[in-house]
Amino acid sequence: MPWKETKDPYKIWVSEIILQQTRVAQGKDYYLRFINQFPDIDSLASAEQTEVLKQWEGLGYYSRARNLQQAAQDIIHRFNGVFPTKYDDIISLKGIGPYSAAAISSFAFEQPYAVVDGNVQRVLSRHFEILLAIDSTEGKKRIALLAQKLLDKKQPAQFNQAIMDFGALICTPKAPKCETCPLSKSCRALKNNIVKEIPFKSKKVKKTDRFYYFFLIHKEDHIVIQRRPNIGIWAGLHELPNIESHSALSHAEILSKINFEEKKSIKLIHSIQHKLTHLNLNITLYHLINSSQYKCHKNQRLEKVSELSTFAFPKPLKNFLDIFFMNNI
Ligand code: SF4
Repeated sequence: MPWKETKDPYKIWVSEIILQQTRVAQGKDYYLRFINQFPDIDSLASAEQTEVLKQWEGLGYYSRARNLQQAAQDIIHRFNGVFPTKYDDIISLKGIGPYSAAAISSFAFEQPYAVVDGNVQRVLSRHFEILLAIDSTEGKKRIALLAQKLLDKKQPAQFNQAIMDFGALICTPKAPKCETCPLSKSCRALKNNIVKEIPFKSKKVKKTDRFYYFFLIHKEDHIVIQRRPNIGIWAGLHELPNIESHSALSHAEILSKINFEEKKSIKLIHSIQHKLTHLNLNITLYHLINSSQYKCHKNQRLEKVSELSTFAFPKPLKNFLDIFFMNNI
């Protein structure tokens, strides 16, 4: 992986943030494009937010991209544009928690901070038979203390990388290779035949439903788009005009909420469900066929279809627009 071959704290930081919620296979391309577009702290700090979000388009959890840029601007102001080397300064940056701070401190600066990700939690809780939920305060604390105690203080980067790789390749979640594992003799979970039961979690994430009704309004080779507010889901991204609801709306309710004059010319064209960690998004797309009289609201603009690729849209909307205009224009 390209980020394993560098000691540049900026590049390690970007890779850690991308990989927080993204698989390595998908994250690698995003990482390479991001670093190509913003090769250093200066270029990221001075970019337009829309450019940063565009590079993040499709990765989800967009607050990561906004936090990266805010932290880059903070580094310019507080640390004269030089990435801080002290753990306390690193963790004070927006979007950097104990995991990322430990990763940057150890990988970039060889400082003695143990990295605790899901792989490390699994290896330690199995090997030492820690019967605490890994998402409980007590469980997290016990594993973090143990990881810090075990850390090889002389070569923290190598130790951290080794234990994470061990969890990813040997002590895997579903089919750990216990028969060939070099730690099998001392592994307590193996001895007590409870490898499959460890680690475990206490809470189940409760998902709520959210309903979005989007309207594709186009005039010749332009469509109406708008930018989402800077808070909440998909903050700062572009979208189509829409109605948002916490419960499902009937067709009549939708018609009563919109102020288009040509209500009869609204046609349902697509509906999908998109799952996020805490939300089930129920998305319905309508096409306003006769839209020549439509007047844009203050927050809306007409944008050329051929220019849409320069804006960052939420993934389900981008997929829809790509397919719609490929087949219709
Ligand atoms: S023996 Fe099995 S459960 Fe124990 S550390 Fe090795 S791979 Fe993991």
